[in-house]
Amino acid sequence: MTDISQQLAAALNAIKDPSSGKGLIDSGRSPAPRFADGIASVIIEVTAIAEARRELIEIDIKKALGAIEGVEDVRIGMTSKKIGKRLIAVGSGKGGVGKSTLAANLAIALARRGLHVGLIDADIYGPSQPRIMGVEGRRPVANEDKKLVPVPTEYGVSMLSMGQLVKPGQAIAWRGPMAANAMGQLIDADWGEADTFIIDLPPGTGDVQLTMVQKYKPMGAIIVSTPQDLSLIDAKRAINLFEEAEVPIVGLVENMAGYECPECGAVSDPFGNGGAEAAAKEQGHDFLGRIPLELGIRTASDEGVPPAASGEVGSDSFNAIAGKLFDWLDR
Ligand code: ADP
Repeated sequence: MTDISQQLAAALNAIKDPSSGKGLIDSGRSPAPRFADGIASVIIEVTAIAEARRELIEIDIKKALGAIEGVEDVRIGMTSKKIGKRLIAVGSGKGGVGKSTLAANLAIALARRGLHVGLIDADIYGPSQPRIMGVEGRRPVANEDKKLVPVPTEYGVSMLSMGQLVKPGQAIAWRGPMAANAMGQLIDADWGEADTFIIDLPPGTGDVQLTMVQKYKPMGAIIVSTPQDLSLIDAKRAINLFEEAEVPIVGLVENMAGYECPECGAVSDPFGNGGAEAAAKEQGHDFLGRIPLELGIRTASDEGVPPAASGEVGSDSFNAIAGKLFDWLDR
């Protein structure tokens, strides 16, 4: 090792990793810097270091290494481990098809199967997870690293919602980049043990969804649709967004299929039936299951007690779909 390499390594290791308190090399965050043609190159693995801290570390590295004689420039590459965070996006072509309802119940059902699950509500247009999960009005705090600390729910799932980042009643009229940035804060929060995340995306194919697929590369996506033709056409657009970004489609879910009359027990299909299954087949994707249209599913959401937790109406359908997702994750 040349003298300058030793000096660079010593200078880098004199900077502390905020997680372990050890030097950046001793902590395993960085290999020894490389040096050629006056340029010192540093790679640092920044998983679990807050954005603001990363910038400070970058400044420290540039200053310390740049001060060494013979160093003309310091280049820093930051890498972040994608493993350890399994993101499953739940999307739909349009709003009101039950995407949030499904996302909440899947998160709970996966947690009941022993996974450490976080629920991320990125639906800026209608952040409904705090209500569905029974934590309306609870605001997340920030830890000393300025990372958000998720709100625990009664159902073994921690959650964060776009709705918790703004004052109640304040319309969320963020421009796309602001919303995408806010989503980053939710994903990059202090999630503790959680390693499997259900992301409730906004409906359609806007900035947040694009950022999601491009920057955060979910492990898979689930698309929800009602059986109506129009909803299915929109759903296909949502599928395309994921396919173009090479995000695997876990499968399609049909919601609001089949209404059982509480008086006579007859089953009718207000929105048709079977459309999503046919669409899934047509596009070569799996069909994950069907959730009936049930008054109890809506009231459970309004009361903050999801069926997957209470075992009430609809729970079998949600659990069956969660089982397929569990197997998919485990494959
Ligand atoms: P999205 O997230 O797609 O906008 P939501 O999950 O918020 O849709 O659902 C829209 C409304 O429909 C909510 O009031 C919800 O409680 C209700 N809902 C969703 N799925 C069902 C269902 N299977 N049966 C009855 N009501 C449902």
